[in-house]
Amino acid sequence: MLFTLITVVIELTGYLEPGPVPDLNPTLLLVGGRLAIDFANNPSYPGMPTQNLSWDELIRFLEASRIVSAERGASLLALPGSDPDTAQALLSRAVRLRDALRKAFSAIVKKEGIAREWSEPINQILRITEGHDELVFEGNAWKMEFKAREGGLAWLLAAIARSAAEIIVEGAQARLRICANSDCGLFFSDKSRTHRRRWCSMAICGNRHKVASFARRHAS
Ligand SMILES: [Zn+2]
Repeated sequence: MLFTLITVVIELTGYLEPGPVPDLNPTLLLVGGRLAIDFANNPSYPGMPTQNLSWDELIRFLEASRIVSAERGASLLALPGSDPDTAQALLSRAVRLRDALRKAFSAIVKKEGIAREWSEPINQILRITEGHDELVFEGNAWKMEFKAREGGLAWLLAAIARSAAEIIVEGAQARLRICANSDCGLFFSDKSRTHRRRWCSMAICGNRHKVASFARRHAS
């Protein structure tokens, strides 16, 4: 299952161009270019940093990044009503993970060291992903499929933790950047050919900058 998830995520992180996610949630912008970067940004929007992460925002993120289907997302949205403890446990894990990612990514951008304690929330999730690969015949081809030893909701964060670990291992090669709009703070992976991408979203933060410098130039 993890294998499938990761394949999906790799395909998904092909979204090189920042932009809205149509037909899922028109306001959720995934600008990071990689799953863990988008998760670190969640639930912020370009130019609007946010600290709190609600259950709805977590589930909408999982849907938008195709970790869960729309049907699974809908049933998860109802979970705090039916099983508040389980929902709260997952939300706490997600917040711990996201906050550790923000610290670690910020350190990578600033070329500073990563504290070991920031790796712990990532490792906690990597630890639950024990299992084995199995050959399966699907359609007309053989595939490797991951069979998890344990189920449970923490699995929903597994692909994110995996993506985060990869970015930390890559270090400078991940070309992790922070938006040049100092009010924004969103992270992204600079996959541009010239490696000079400055904005999380050209349409929002880049444009705001253009408007501001235009106004400055034309101020008397
Ligand atoms: Zn920005």
